[in-house]
Amino acid sequence: MVEGIQSPAQVTYWLMSGRDLFLLLNLLGLACFFYIAARRILPLTRGERDLRFDRPLVRLERVLQYWLGQWKHPRYRTAGIMHILFFAGFLILATQAFSLLILGVSPNFVLPGSSGEIGHIYDIVKDYAATIVFLCMIVAAVRRIVFKPARYAVSARYGKGHPLDAIFLLALIALLMASESLFEASKAAFQAQPGQPAEFLAVLSLPWMLKNLLVSTPLPTLQSLHLGAYFVDVLTFYFLLCYRPFGIQFHVETSLFNVYFAKLDRGTVKPVRWGVSDEHLDQVKSFGVKTFEDFTWKHMLDFYSCADCGRCSDQCPANAVGRPLSPRFLTIKARDYSFQHYSMFGRASNGTPLISPGGIYSEDEIWSCTTCGACEEECPLLIQYIDKIVDLRRGMIDDGNVPQSLQKPLKALESRGNPYGKMEKKRAEWAKAKDFSQTCTVKTADAKSNADTLYFVDSITSYDDRMQSIGRATARILAAAGVNFGILGAAEKDSGHEARRFGEETLFMALRDHNVDAIKASGAQRIVTADPHAYNALKHDYKDVPPVEHISQVICREVKSGNLKLDPVENADDVYAYHDPCYLGRHNQVYDDPRQVLDAIPGLKRVEMDRCRDRSFCCGGGGLMLFYEPKEDERMGVKRVQMAAEAGANVIVTACPFCMVNIEDAIKVAGLEGKMTAIDLAELVDKQLVRPAPVQLEHDKLTSEVFA
Ligand code: SF4
Ligand code: SF4
Repeated sequence: MVEGIQSPAQVTYWLMSGRDLFLLLNLLGLACFFYIAARRILPLTRGERDLRFDRPLVRLERVLQYWLGQWKHPRYRTAGIMHILFFAGFLILATQAFSLLILGVSPNFVLPGSSGEIGHIYDIVKDYAATIVFLCMIVAAVRRIVFKPARYAVSARYGKGHPLDAIFLLALIALLMASESLFEASKAAFQAQPGQPAEFLAVLSLPWMLKNLLVSTPLPTLQSLHLGAYFVDVLTFYFLLCYRPFGIQFHVETSLFNVYFAKLDRGTVKPVRWGVSDEHLDQVKSFGVKTFEDFTWKHMLDFYSCADCGRCSDQCPANAVGRPLSPRFLTIKARDYSFQHYSMFGRASNGTPLISPGGIYSEDEIWSCTTCGACEEECPLLIQYIDKIVDLRRGMIDDGNVPQSLQKPLKALESRGNPYGKMEKKRAEWAKAKDFSQTCTVKTADAKSNADTLYFVDSITSYDDRMQSIGRATARILAAAGVNFGILGAAEKDSGHEARRFGEETLFMALRDHNVDAIKASGAQRIVTADPHAYNALKHDYKDVPPVEHISQVICREVKSGNLKLDPVENADDVYAYHDPCYLGRHNQVYDDPRQVLDAIPGLKRVEMDRCRDRSFCCGGGGLMLFYEPKEDERMGVKRVQMAAEAGANVIVTACPFCMVNIEDAIKVAGLEGKMTAIDLAELVDKQLVRPAPVQLEHDKLTSEVFA
């Protein structure tokens, strides 16, 4: 009878027993890993505070959804499905890897609970898992080498990517799968000899195929292959474990924590310093991020967790129009910086300014972001960008480093409460237009007015001649719905939404405090606005103010209840496409209400653009972004109207005055005047409202001019 195959622990290698040798290897491997991990954690201990220990159940739920459930991966179908497959494979094989390591020390080791029928099922599953992971690695490497999806490309201005790193790691994982499979296969081929108890391998799995290849191999060769495969497996495992923290595969270790500690509240901006109240901000040494150590520990963890998949930059509108910004490279450059300045040996060299001639970021790069949130929506690992960009801007503002084109509007916000520098007393002029005031009365909401609803107008609708039409449409809709509303008038100042996102925290605080006092004094019980930026500010940046709704939500409710009725569209040939404003859609998840309103207009034909809802393409940004002159190849708005044209639409509906500025402008730049028009949802509803008596509306004139 043939003797059984010897397990790695039973063999003597170079005068050392297998048990001792593998014990030593395990200890060395683990020691190396913990040393490297400790060095990688060092910058996190020097980073700023970040309070991420609240709401543990919500965080656990997100881990289940986004980490274990890989929720965002299928948004990119091929790569996503592959990732889900090898992630599942890794989870299954983690137990196998653990068992194999112990097998080197204890030859008869069997994982508790894995014997009998359960063990048999697990063996089948893990054989297939190893096969799938092996194949996925080959396909992923071929994709990166041969097909090179555009999103992996690296523009020279962003520095260098790490394509070889990715391919090397894929090869290592494939080697790990192959060595594990060979270990099993050589044992099974040995046992296939007469008189041996045969071990089952899953049909058509990688170990099964290797076994069939080896079945007539001499026994001594099989024994050598068995031991050799084990050696390769253990060495590859520890090499991978210790090598991963040097590149993009570090996310294997960090992603679970990154998802658990991810930001929970959409639409918000992090405080200047966690744990420092507004009243004590004057004691803060400096605002924002200037050096790497000014990032919070969680933001540093983000840098480690990036898988370099390129999805964020692929969705970034700034990147799409050639602005010098790629969110992916904001992360990669910071991670490279961290690896370089916090190396494995010696003292860390910290404190270098990030935005400086020798730094890793340029000023234009940081000002190019519209804070649209497309990158964050896409990232499968929930990596955040807006907070980091706002913090970097705060740092620049703190150093008096403000782009020329923004200096005037920021000054005007400070002195007049609006970026246009217009008189405060003219803030409510839009409501005094003759045609309008004859049909709709807008009162000032104050203690005497008894208005239960405050219409917060904000600066652009108050002062911009074209956008005032949105204000009047909103007021008429509220009046038609029987809402007892008023406005703050001269007592209103800019919501400060953009000032905050441009890093002007103290200016924002002054505007906010003024508005909060005025809102409280008005006695209103709820707030309505037609400006998504004001909506976002009132909802997330302000405290102690009544609940706020966007006008699209009010209209949707009133239309559903039958309180507002809508006439059919005049021209049944028109095709409408709804453009989701970033601060209504992605940041606040209001996607359905505006669409339901459009669908409630009889005869209205609506199409969706390819990039819609949470993948909406930013129009170019609102607020202060209107004043910023970025370096770009083309305008975001132009790309957006082209997308609408490709979808077959000739009317773009939006629900934001800033989108309206950008889109109307883009229609002209794209040469689509006369073929395409834009209208705000409030204007459209106002136009279609069934009224007791016909009213000549000003945007009838506006749209008829456009169509003429
Ligand atoms: S927020 Fe928008 S513009 Fe800014 S980096 Fe992300 S995707 Fe690009
Ligand atoms: S930040 Fe997220 S989406 Fe962007 S490259 Fe990294 S992992 Fe991919």
